[in-house]
Amino acid sequence: MQQYFSDTPLKVGEEYIFTKEQAHHARDVVRLREETIRLVHDGRGFFARAYPKGREFAAMVEAEDPRINESGIDLTLVMALIRREKFELVLQKATELGVSRIVPMISSRCVVKAREEKAEKQLKRWQDICMEAARQCKRSRIPEVTDTIAFSGLKSLSGEVKLAAYENAWGESEPLVKALKTAKSVIVAIGPEGGFSDEEMKEFAAMDYQSVTLGPRILRAETAAIYACAVISAVGEGL
Ligand code: SAH
Repeated sequence: MQQYFSDTPLKVGEEYIFTKEQAHHARDVVRLREETIRLVHDGRGFFARAYPKGREFAAMVEAEDPRINESGIDLTLVMALIRREKFELVLQKATELGVSRIVPMISSRCVVKAREEKAEKQLKRWQDICMEAARQCKRSRIPEVTDTIAFSGLKSLSGEVKLAAYENAWGESEPLVKALKTAKSVIVAIGPEGGFSDEEMKEFAAMDYQSVTLGPRILRAETAAIYACAVISAVGEGL
């Protein structure tokens, strides 16, 4: 069953007209015929009967879907800028794994530089990746991708539990599952290919971020991000 997001509220018995992009996807990509789809607005899902309507595509909203396909933990993933294709992989996988928001961050060892002039276009691309992943995995919400922050921007983020993944913390820091406790809102920060500096680990502590280990192996940044989201979504969904 295909899913699409609506910018406007949905009501049973009303007709929803697809956007141009959605109509192209329905007609030309998945070759949708007269079938049931899932429409989502603001976290609420509805079943709807889709059909071609002249040059457009429409759907009659038939019933609310009680399922809310969201994790029980509000997860903020702070992700240091890493190589483009890896960063975009993290956006897609973190979305499938229930992340609530993704905060791109520049830290001292980032080799990828945030390009001012491209910032807007890049953010739109990142948001589109998350929307498409949320559509495909039938989430009831699209994760937010915020503007890129500097390391100091971490202090303005809020969460019951604030964690900094540190690859040298094995045997020193709590493992991720234990560090979560019963928190309902969690921030996890993942460093770049070169890791966080010792200085940054000290700054994390000063901002009440707890160092956490993701196990005895040194994971690539993208693997660490995906691992953290997978573990937290499993805990959040009581799996
Ligand atoms: N400097 C490392 C590589 C950094 S890995 C090296 O020696 O090669 C990139 C990021 O992934 C780290 O900053 C950290 O946030 C996370 N990470 C990787 N493995 C981890 C582990 N076992 N425990 C906690 N964090 C880890």
